[in-house]
Amino acid sequence: MSESSIRIPDKYSGYALSHFCVPKHYEDDLEDIMIPWGLIQDRTERLARDIFQDVRDEPLTALCVLKGGYRFYTDLLDKITTLNRSHGSVSVPINVDFIRLKSYENDESTGQIRVVGGDNLSGLRGQNVLVVEDIIDTGRTMEKLLAILANHGPKSVRVASLLVKRRQGSTGYRPDYTGFEIPDKFVVGYALDYNEYFRDLNHICVINENGKKKYAI
Ligand code: 5GP
Repeated sequence: MSESSIRIPDKYSGYALSHFCVPKHYEDDLEDIMIPWGLIQDRTERLARDIFQDVRDEPLTALCVLKGGYRFYTDLLDKITTLNRSHGSVSVPINVDFIRLKSYENDESTGQIRVVGGDNLSGLRGQNVLVVEDIIDTGRTMEKLLAILANHGPKSVRVASLLVKRRQGSTGYRPDYTGFEIPDKFVVGYALDYNEYFRDLNHICVINENGKKKYAI
């Protein structure tokens, strides 16, 4: 992992729920707050600047990986468009595109990655694509997605992932832009879900056993 991402160590115990605002309906379901919303915003601002400086005047197609990536996607694009407004001589024209993948049930990867929705990818031919993802765990989803995208002839593909998990059994895949490298724990919030729950939580939190049981399918 390059020094350009923030490394959250294995021993880090997070923030107590009582120090921040958490929806009442999730209070009993979370271990701690790993990354508060404000810190996500600050880190995303820097990633936006890095991307802006790398891409400069070239048009960019920002591809959101749904559903988990949607909040990072909108915040990242907001911050890039702010730079577009404030840098008089340079700006990055942006197109938006969406793809929906599914690989997880409960907190386990099913090992099968399915494209379950999104736009027709043939529009990506000849485009500079920025894939925006919430989390790289084993790396299998992203490797599969990159293979799918390669079949549609993009000019270039870069990947921004808010989180990368340190874990055994990783394929070794690393995105071009990473927000935080995190310990091997199942995290929820900021659009990351557990069986569709917790997307409506602002902070990135560690789910507890109670939460896993309550929302298991
Ligand atoms: P990978 O193929 O890299 O193992 O898994 C990537 C996908 O698994 C992510 O896009 C996400 O949907 C899901 N995932 C992996 N780890 C977590 C986690 O800690 N929390 C949540 N909510 N989803 C995860």
